[in-house]
Amino acid sequence: MHELDPSSWLIYGGRPMESGDPLNVPPVMASNFRLPGERYYSRTEGTPTQVAFETLMGGLEGGRSLAFSSGMAAVATLFHGLPVGSTLVIPEDPYHAVNGLAVEGEDQGRWSVLRLDLADTGAWIEAMPDADLVWLESPANPLMTVADLPAICGASRPDRCVVAVDSTFATPLVQRPLDFGADVVMHSATKFIGGHSDLLAGVLTVTDEALYDDLYHRRVRNGGTIGAMEAYLAIRGARTLALRLEKSMANAEVLAVRLDAHPEVARVRYPGLPTHDTHAHAAGFMRGFGAMMSFEVTGTGERASAFVEAAELINNATSLGGIESTMERRALVPGQETMPPTLIRFSVGCEHVDDLWRDLDDALTATA
Ligand SMILES: *Cc1c(COP(=O)(O)O)cnc(C)c1O
Repeated sequence: MHELDPSSWLIYGGRPMESGDPLNVPPVMASNFRLPGERYYSRTEGTPTQVAFETLMGGLEGGRSLAFSSGMAAVATLFHGLPVGSTLVIPEDPYHAVNGLAVEGEDQGRWSVLRLDLADTGAWIEAMPDADLVWLESPANPLMTVADLPAICGASRPDRCVVAVDSTFATPLVQRPLDFGADVVMHSATKFIGGHSDLLAGVLTVTDEALYDDLYHRRVRNGGTIGAMEAYLAIRGARTLALRLEKSMANAEVLAVRLDAHPEVARVRYPGLPTHDTHAHAAGFMRGFGAMMSFEVTGTGERASAFVEAAELINNATSLGGIESTMERRALVPGQETMPPTLIRFSVGCEHVDDLWRDLDDALTATA
């Protein structure tokens, strides 16, 4: 078969292909398998459902995938493979649990941490000769900074220096960091890939076989494997990712412009707005600008809370990437106290754009 468009691969990839097989891999609820055989135990070889999800994700990102019980299980498995004394380079404001992991390892003397501005491409490239792991997150959660991924991931570096990208906000349809030269791409499949706010899952995808083997064996030892039910739900969600993303990105583009013009909104952070600080990076390589944005309402933090609570359609909830829109006041999240007090992170779902706009406008007006 000819190479499929990613939107077709999402529908085709990871299906059982023998005659008589079900069209969709079922959740194979098994820890143990009859011997002798190629499968031994689910923490080692994984369930057929897990492997199908990994096949789907690997084809999407252009590498080999390993699925985990959460995004953080995937990140921790990568970080904890660093030799003691390593140098870890992370963004100034990474995803808060990634920051927690970096700080914990630093406090234990496992590694030293260098923090860089995601927008400062030169600083990332300059750090590589002394780095063991370069961890990028783009677009960043929740400030929406976009790193120049082709320039950074494509920079020449010592073999020792692994470049990894948390691509959760973009999804594999908007950017493929491995194509730019990254060694690892990570997704919290809890978000857009699952897409229905009903599971936790994480994925690492790599191109290098030795790195794959290392991560595979570390997952066996750490035990952060994905459950069969989660893998099943993740596949089921991913089948419609292209449809969901098309709709939610189109909604986001409209809503970002309207919010930006609203008198009760002080600032909108959306990579698709020409006024966004790293719009030029985003316009250079992203295929669309994603369905995530942040905005600051006018007034105080209390007003921002009142606004989030006044919305009736848009759910006040922390997670993101679901078919249903969610928003939250980010400074209320433990570990995010330094975020601007009126910053609202908004995950744009697939509702009708006019209903979303009316909800936003009504809640802004009611709390003005
Ligand atoms: C949610 C998230 C994570 C962590 O993923 P979990 O599935 O919650 O463990 C990591 N990075 C980003 C950007 C996220 O949004």
